[in-house]
Amino acid sequence: MTGSIVDLEEAVASLPAAARAAAGRILTISTTTGRLEPPPEMHEWIRKLFGSVEAVREQRIVRVNNQVTLEGALFNELRALRPMEVKGADEVRAIIASSANDPFCRPETGTPADVFGRVEGAYGITASNVAKYDGFHGVLVFKEHDPLAPMDASAIRDHLTTARGWAERALEADPAARYYFLMWNSLWRAGGSIVHGHMQMTATRGMHYPRIELLRRQALAYDALHGSDYFEDLWVVHDALGLGAEANGVRSIASLVPIKEREVLILGRPGADESSLATAVARAVSAYRAAGVVSYNMALYLPPLSPDGEDWRRFPPLARLVDRGDPANKTSDIGAMELYAASVIAADPFRVAETLRA
Ligand SMILES: [Zn+2]
Repeated sequence: MTGSIVDLEEAVASLPAAARAAAGRILTISTTTGRLEPPPEMHEWIRKLFGSVEAVREQRIVRVNNQVTLEGALFNELRALRPMEVKGADEVRAIIASSANDPFCRPETGTPADVFGRVEGAYGITASNVAKYDGFHGVLVFKEHDPLAPMDASAIRDHLTTARGWAERALEADPAARYYFLMWNSLWRAGGSIVHGHMQMTATRGMHYPRIELLRRQALAYDALHGSDYFEDLWVVHDALGLGAEANGVRSIASLVPIKEREVLILGRPGADESSLATAVARAVSAYRAAGVVSYNMALYLPPLSPDGEDWRRFPPLARLVDRGDPANKTSDIGAMELYAASVIAADPFRVAETLRA
Protein backbone atom coordinates (compact mmCIF):
# COMPACT_ATOMS: atom_id res chain seq x y z
CA MET A 1 0.00 0.00 0.00
CA THR A 2 1.38 3.40 -0.97
CA GLY A 3 -0.15 6.23 0.93
CA SER A 4 0.43 9.84 1.68
CA ILE A 5 0.43 11.62 5.00
CA VAL A 6 -2.26 14.04 3.76
CA ASP A 7 -4.67 11.10 3.45
CA LEU A 8 -3.86 9.63 6.86
CA GLU A 9 -7.35 10.04 8.36
CA GLU A 10 -8.92 8.15 5.46
CA ALA A 11 -6.17 5.49 5.55
CA VAL A 12 -6.75 4.82 9.26
CA ALA A 13 -10.53 4.72 8.78
CA SER A 14 -10.18 1.96 6.19
CA LEU A 15 -7.82 -0.25 8.23
CA PRO A 16 -8.91 -3.75 9.30
CA ALA A 17 -10.75 -3.68 12.64
CA ALA A 18 -7.90 -4.74 14.95
CA ALA A 19 -5.42 -2.25 13.50
CA ARG A 20 -8.06 0.48 13.47
CA ALA A 21 -8.79 -0.17 17.13
CA ALA A 22 -5.08 0.02 17.99
CA ALA A 23 -4.81 3.27 16.02
CA GLY A 24 -7.73 4.64 18.04
CA ARG A 25 -5.95 3.76 21.28
CA ILE A 26 -2.68 5.44 20.25
CA LEU A 27 -3.33 8.21 17.73
CA THR A 28 -5.47 11.26 17.28
CA ILE A 29 -5.46 12.67 13.76
CA SER A 30 -7.01 15.85 12.42
CA THR A 31 -6.78 17.63 9.10
CA THR A 32 -7.18 21.35 8.58
CA THR A 33 -6.75 23.80 5.70
CA GLY A 34 -4.66 26.96 5.91
CA ARG A 35 -5.56 29.71 3.43
CA LEU A 36 -3.81 32.83 2.14
CA GLU A 37 -4.01 35.31 -0.73
CA PRO A 38 -0.68 36.13 -2.39
CA PRO A 39 -0.32 39.37 -4.39
CA PRO A 40 0.33 38.90 -8.14
CA GLU A 41 3.92 40.12 -7.64
CA MET A 42 4.59 36.96 -5.63
CA HIS A 43 3.10 34.45 -8.07
CA GLU A 44 6.20 33.78 -10.11
CA TRP A 45 8.32 33.13 -7.03
CA ILE A 46 5.62 30.86 -5.57
CA ARG A 47 5.33 28.89 -8.83
CA LYS A 48 9.08 28.40 -8.90
CA LEU A 49 9.19 27.12 -5.33
CA PHE A 50 5.94 25.20 -5.00
CA GLY A 51 4.79 24.46 -8.56
CA SER A 52 1.55 26.43 -8.50
CA VAL A 53 -0.14 29.35 -6.75
CA GLU A 54 -3.14 27.12 -5.99
CA ALA A 55 -0.96 24.78 -3.93
CA VAL A 56 -0.05 27.69 -1.67
CA ARG A 57 -3.47 29.36 -1.57
CA GLU A 58 -4.97 26.33 0.19
CA GLN A 59 -2.66 24.15 2.23
CA ARG A 60 -3.71 20.94 3.91
CA ILE A 61 -2.15 20.36 7.31
CA VAL A 62 -2.37 17.03 9.09
CA ARG A 63 -1.87 16.98 12.81
CA VAL A 64 -0.99 13.69 14.45
CA ASN A 65 -0.74 13.16 18.19
CA ASN A 66 0.36 10.08 20.02
CA GLN A 67 -1.99 10.28 23.00
CA VAL A 68 0.05 7.69 24.92
CA THR A 69 3.41 9.47 24.75
CA LEU A 70 2.03 12.94 23.94
CA GLU A 71 4.41 13.33 21.04
CA GLY A 72 2.92 15.28 18.16
CA ALA A 73 3.71 16.29 14.60
CA LEU A 74 2.27 18.75 12.10
CA PHE A 75 2.61 17.77 8.45
CA ASN A 76 2.01 20.27 5.70
CA GLU A 77 1.57 18.74 2.26
CA LEU A 78 3.13 21.86 0.77
CA ARG A 79 6.33 21.32 2.73
CA ALA A 80 6.22 17.63 1.85
CA LEU A 81 6.14 18.55 -1.85
CA ARG A 82 9.35 20.53 -1.75
CA PRO A 83 12.26 18.64 -3.25
CA MET A 84 15.01 17.82 -0.78
CA GLU A 85 18.55 18.44 -1.83
CA VAL A 86 21.63 18.66 0.33
CA LYS A 87 23.29 21.80 -0.98
CA GLY A 88 26.30 21.48 1.27
CA ALA A 89 27.46 18.00 0.21
CA ASP A 90 30.72 19.16 -1.39
CA GLU A 91 31.45 21.52 1.47
CA VAL A 92 30.83 18.71 3.97
CA ARG A 93 33.20 16.39 2.13
CA ALA A 94 35.88 19.09 2.08
CA ILE A 95 35.51 19.69 5.83
CA ILE A 96 35.70 15.94 6.55
CA ALA A 97 38.87 15.62 4.45
CA SER A 98 40.52 18.69 5.99
CA SER A 99 39.86 17.44 9.53
CA ALA A 100 41.77 14.16 9.00
CA ASN A 101 44.75 13.37 11.26
CA ASP A 102 42.88 14.66 14.28
CA PRO A 103 43.34 13.22 17.82
CA PHE A 104 40.63 10.60 17.10
CA CYS A 105 42.84 9.25 14.28
CA ARG A 106 45.34 8.23 17.04
CA PRO A 107 43.06 7.54 20.03
CA GLU A 108 45.70 5.85 22.25
CA THR A 109 47.62 9.12 22.52
CA GLY A 110 44.99 11.64 21.45
CA THR A 111 42.21 10.68 23.90
CA PRO A 112 42.08 9.78 27.60
CA ALA A 113 41.25 6.24 28.75
CA ASP A 114 38.55 5.43 31.27
CA VAL A 115 39.58 4.36 34.78
CA PHE A 116 38.77 0.78 33.71
CA GLY A 117 40.83 1.06 30.52
CA ARG A 118 39.66 0.81 26.92
CA VAL A 119 37.41 -1.63 25.08
CA GLU A 120 38.45 -2.39 21.52
CA GLY A 121 36.45 -3.85 18.67
CA ALA A 122 37.27 -4.52 15.03
CA TYR A 123 35.90 -1.12 13.96
CA GLY A 124 36.43 1.09 16.98
CA ILE A 125 38.00 1.69 20.38
CA THR A 126 36.61 3.44 23.44
CA ALA A 127 37.95 6.56 25.12
CA SER A 128 36.85 8.58 28.12
CA ASN A 129 35.02 11.79 27.27
CA VAL A 130 37.03 14.82 28.38
CA ALA A 131 34.07 16.98 29.49
CA LYS A 132 31.54 14.53 30.87
CA TYR A 133 27.74 14.55 30.68
CA ASP A 134 27.59 12.09 33.56
CA GLY A 135 29.79 10.07 35.95
CA PHE A 136 30.54 7.61 33.18
CA HIS A 137 30.75 9.14 29.72
CA GLY A 138 32.73 7.41 27.02
CA VAL A 139 33.37 7.81 23.33
CA LEU A 140 33.48 5.01 20.81
CA VAL A 141 36.06 6.28 18.33
CA PHE A 142 35.61 4.68 14.92
CA LYS A 143 38.80 3.40 13.25
CA GLU A 144 37.56 5.09 10.08
CA HIS A 145 37.93 8.88 10.17
CA ASP A 146 35.30 9.62 7.53
CA PRO A 147 31.87 9.61 9.25
CA LEU A 148 30.23 9.15 5.84
CA ALA A 149 32.23 6.06 4.88
CA PRO A 150 29.89 3.14 4.11
CA MET A 151 28.89 1.26 7.25
CA ASP A 152 27.43 -2.22 6.93
CA ALA A 153 25.62 -4.36 9.49
CA SER A 154 28.82 -6.00 10.74
CA ALA A 155 30.37 -2.58 11.48
CA ILE A 156 27.21 -1.45 13.32
CA ARG A 157 27.08 -4.74 15.24
CA ASP A 158 30.72 -4.35 16.21
CA HIS A 159 30.10 -0.78 17.41
CA LEU A 160 27.06 -1.84 19.46
CA THR A 161 29.01 -4.72 21.00
CA THR A 162 32.07 -2.60 21.81
CA ALA A 163 29.90 0.11 23.35
CA ARG A 164 28.08 -2.47 25.48
CA GLY A 165 31.46 -3.85 26.56
CA TRP A 166 32.25 -0.34 27.78
CA ALA A 167 28.93 -0.18 29.69
CA GLU A 168 29.61 -3.54 31.34
CA ARG A 169 33.03 -2.31 32.49
CA ALA A 170 31.38 0.80 33.92
CA LEU A 171 28.88 -1.43 35.74
CA GLU A 172 31.74 -3.47 37.23
CA ALA A 173 33.36 -0.24 38.42
CA ASP A 174 30.05 1.00 39.88
CA PRO A 175 27.21 -1.52 40.25
CA ALA A 176 24.71 1.35 40.64
CA ALA A 177 25.56 2.74 37.16
CA ARG A 178 23.16 0.27 35.53
CA TYR A 179 21.43 2.63 33.13
CA TYR A 180 23.35 2.61 29.88
CA PHE A 181 22.61 5.03 27.06
CA LEU A 182 24.21 5.07 23.58
CA MET A 183 24.04 8.03 21.22
CA TRP A 184 25.40 8.89 17.79
CA ASN A 185 25.58 12.50 16.63
CA SER A 186 26.66 12.55 12.99
CA LEU A 187 28.28 15.90 12.12
CA TRP A 188 27.90 19.35 13.68
CA ARG A 189 24.35 19.84 12.55
CA ALA A 190 23.38 16.92 14.81
CA GLY A 191 25.41 18.23 17.77
CA GLY A 192 28.64 16.37 16.96
CA SER A 193 31.56 18.62 17.90
CA ILE A 194 34.14 16.28 16.34
CA VAL A 195 33.93 15.31 12.67
CA HIS A 196 35.76 11.96 13.02
CA GLY A 197 33.18 9.15 13.20
CA HIS A 198 32.19 8.31 16.76
CA MET A 199 29.37 7.34 19.11
CA GLN A 200 29.03 8.21 22.78
CA MET A 201 28.02 6.17 25.79
CA THR A 202 26.87 7.19 29.24
CA ALA A 203 25.98 5.15 32.30
CA THR A 204 23.88 6.70 35.02
CA ARG A 205 22.52 5.84 38.45
CA GLY A 206 19.27 6.06 40.41
CA MET A 207 16.79 6.07 37.52
CA HIS A 208 17.09 5.86 33.77
CA TYR A 209 17.22 9.15 31.85
CA PRO A 210 13.78 10.79 32.04
CA ARG A 211 12.70 10.28 28.41
CA ILE A 212 13.37 6.54 28.68
CA GLU A 213 11.76 6.16 32.10
CA LEU A 214 8.77 8.14 30.84
CA LEU A 215 8.29 5.76 27.91
CA ARG A 216 8.47 2.75 30.27
CA ARG A 217 5.79 4.27 32.50
CA GLN A 218 3.59 5.26 29.55
CA ALA A 219 3.75 1.73 28.12
CA LEU A 220 2.82 0.22 31.51
CA ALA A 221 -0.07 2.68 31.91
CA TYR A 222 -1.26 1.77 28.40
CA ASP A 223 -1.23 -1.91 29.28
CA ALA A 224 -3.11 -1.23 32.53
CA LEU A 225 -5.75 0.83 30.69
CA HIS A 226 -6.23 -1.28 27.56
CA GLY A 227 -4.86 -4.71 28.46
CA SER A 228 -2.66 -4.51 25.39
CA ASP A 229 1.06 -4.13 24.75
CA TYR A 230 1.96 -0.61 23.64
CA PHE A 231 4.99 -1.50 21.53
CA GLU A 232 3.06 -4.30 19.81
CA ASP A 233 0.13 -1.98 19.07
CA LEU A 234 2.48 0.72 17.79
CA TRP A 235 3.87 -1.80 15.33
CA VAL A 236 0.43 -3.10 14.31
CA VAL A 237 -0.75 0.41 13.42
CA HIS A 238 2.36 1.38 11.45
CA ASP A 239 2.61 -1.98 9.71
CA ALA A 240 -1.05 -1.94 8.67
CA LEU A 241 -0.61 1.53 7.19
CA GLY A 242 2.44 0.44 5.20
CA LEU A 243 4.87 2.27 7.47
CA GLY A 244 6.75 -0.75 8.76
CA ALA A 245 9.42 -3.20 7.69
CA GLU A 246 10.21 -6.40 9.60
CA ALA A 247 13.12 -8.80 9.39
CA ASN A 248 14.09 -11.52 11.88
CA GLY A 249 11.66 -10.17 14.45
CA VAL A 250 13.16 -6.68 14.35
CA ARG A 251 10.66 -4.01 13.37
CA SER A 252 11.46 -0.70 11.69
CA ILE A 253 8.82 2.02 11.71
CA ALA A 254 8.62 5.35 9.89
CA SER A 255 7.11 7.26 12.81
CA LEU A 256 3.78 9.09 12.47
CA VAL A 257 4.87 11.47 15.24
CA PRO A 258 8.52 12.03 14.32
CA ILE A 259 10.54 14.23 16.65
CA LYS A 260 11.93 15.82 13.48
CA GLU A 261 12.44 14.78 9.86
CA ARG A 262 12.38 11.11 8.81
CA GLU A 263 12.37 9.63 12.27
CA VAL A 264 12.75 5.86 12.25
CA LEU A 265 12.10 3.63 15.27
CA ILE A 266 13.71 0.21 15.37
CA LEU A 267 12.20 -2.18 17.88
CA GLY A 268 13.77 -5.48 18.85
CA ARG A 269 12.24 -8.33 20.80
CA PRO A 270 11.81 -7.60 24.52
CA GLY A 271 14.68 -9.29 26.34
CA ALA A 272 16.93 -9.39 23.26
CA ASP A 273 20.12 -7.36 23.28
CA GLU A 274 20.72 -4.44 20.96
CA SER A 275 23.13 -6.25 18.65
CA SER A 276 19.95 -7.81 17.21
CA LEU A 277 19.13 -4.33 15.83
CA ALA A 278 22.36 -4.03 13.82
CA THR A 279 21.00 -5.06 10.42
CA ALA A 280 17.99 -2.76 10.70
CA VAL A 281 20.12 0.17 11.92
CA ALA A 282 22.53 -0.34 9.01
CA ARG A 283 19.58 -0.39 6.63
CA ALA A 284 18.14 2.83 8.07
CA VAL A 285 21.52 4.56 7.88
CA SER A 286 22.03 3.52 4.27
CA ALA A 287 18.47 4.65 3.45
CA TYR A 288 19.32 8.03 4.98
CA ARG A 289 22.53 8.30 2.99
CA ALA A 290 20.74 7.29 -0.22
CA ALA A 291 18.29 10.14 0.44
CA GLY A 292 21.18 12.57 0.87
CA VAL A 293 20.98 12.67 4.68
CA VAL A 294 24.47 13.01 6.16
CA SER A 295 23.67 14.54 9.53
CA TYR A 296 21.56 12.50 11.90
CA ASN A 297 21.14 11.43 15.49
CA MET A 298 20.69 7.94 16.80
CA ALA A 299 19.76 7.04 20.36
CA LEU A 300 19.44 3.64 21.95
CA TYR A 301 16.83 2.98 24.65
CA LEU A 302 17.56 -0.11 26.73
CA PRO A 303 16.41 -1.61 30.02
CA PRO A 304 19.00 -1.34 32.82
CA LEU A 305 21.96 -3.73 32.69
CA SER A 306 21.00 -5.16 36.09
CA PRO A 307 17.56 -5.36 37.75
CA ASP A 308 16.39 -2.16 39.44
CA GLY A 309 13.16 -3.50 40.93
CA GLU A 310 11.01 -1.91 38.21
CA ASP A 311 9.06 -3.68 35.46
CA TRP A 312 11.06 -3.58 32.20
CA ARG A 313 9.80 -6.95 30.91
CA ARG A 314 8.00 -5.58 27.86
CA PHE A 315 10.48 -2.80 27.10
CA PRO A 316 12.22 -3.68 23.82
CA PRO A 317 15.69 -2.60 22.76
CA LEU A 318 14.75 0.50 20.80
CA ALA A 319 16.84 2.62 18.43
CA ARG A 320 15.60 6.02 17.26
CA LEU A 321 17.15 7.79 14.28
CA VAL A 322 16.37 11.28 13.02
CA ASP A 323 17.53 13.37 10.06
CA ARG A 324 18.94 16.74 11.13
CA GLY A 325 18.97 18.39 7.74
CA ASP A 326 21.54 20.03 5.50
CA PRO A 327 24.82 20.80 7.33
CA ALA A 328 25.26 23.84 5.07
CA ASN A 329 21.98 25.38 6.23
CA LYS A 330 22.54 28.05 8.87
CA THR A 331 18.90 27.93 10.00
CA SER A 332 18.48 25.42 12.81
CA ASP A 333 15.97 22.67 12.17
CA ILE A 334 14.65 23.03 15.73
CA GLY A 335 12.84 26.16 16.84
CA ALA A 336 10.44 27.16 19.59
CA MET A 337 7.69 25.07 18.02
CA GLU A 338 9.70 21.86 18.31
CA LEU A 339 11.15 22.66 21.73
CA TYR A 340 7.91 23.69 23.37
CA ALA A 341 4.86 22.67 21.30
CA ALA A 342 4.94 20.04 18.54
CA SER A 343 7.23 19.03 15.70
CA VAL A 344 6.78 20.61 12.26
CA ILE A 345 7.61 18.04 9.62
CA ALA A 346 8.24 18.17 5.87
CA ALA A 347 9.18 14.56 5.05
CA ASP A 348 6.23 12.23 4.47
CA PRO A 349 6.57 9.08 6.63
CA PHE A 350 5.10 7.07 3.75
CA ARG A 351 8.10 8.05 1.59
CA VAL A 352 10.47 7.28 4.49
CA ALA A 353 8.94 3.81 4.79
CA GLU A 354 9.57 3.16 1.10
CA THR A 355 13.26 3.88 1.58
CA LEU A 356 13.37 1.42 4.53
CA ARG A 357 12.02 -1.35 2.30
CA ALA A 358 14.06 -0.46 -0.78
ZN1 LIG B 1 40.16 11.41 12.45
